[in-house]
Amino acid sequence: MAETIFSKIIRKEIPANILYETESVLAFRDINPQAPVHILIIPKLEIPTIREIRLPDHTTLLGELIAAANTIAEQEGIKEDGFRLVINCDKNGGQEVYHLHLHLLGGRKMNWPPG
Ligand code: AMP
Repeated sequence: MAETIFSKIIRKEIPANILYETESVLAFRDINPQAPVHILIIPKLEIPTIREIRLPDHTTLLGELIAAANTIAEQEGIKEDGFRLVINCDKNGGQEVYHLHLHLLGGRKMNWPPG
């Protein structure tokens, strides 16, 4: 699958508000925030959707993504009150960018069902 805009952000070819970076994970503020805190957490590895996740190949990476969410939630001051992690998958999931990413949303009470 063709690379996305997120690959350009990983390579620092286009700007992003980067908050967290390791060898395997990058996180930056969503350009169109849906909550007071809206951060995208992505693997540097190009994985289009959650459907491509395979164990054991991606076990560590998945752990790193979740750990990054906790670290960033703490940095952003939303860990105590709680937050939401969202992964959209393909058409019906509402995915627009085909590079796996977690949405970290917080700073307000989230609605359920999500719609
Ligand atoms: P999804 O619909 O789950 O694929 O989410 C894609 C998200 O990427 C949307 O929330 C967009 O606002 C966000 N987005 C797209 N381009 C950029 C960008 N250049 N920098 C930051 N966020 C972006």
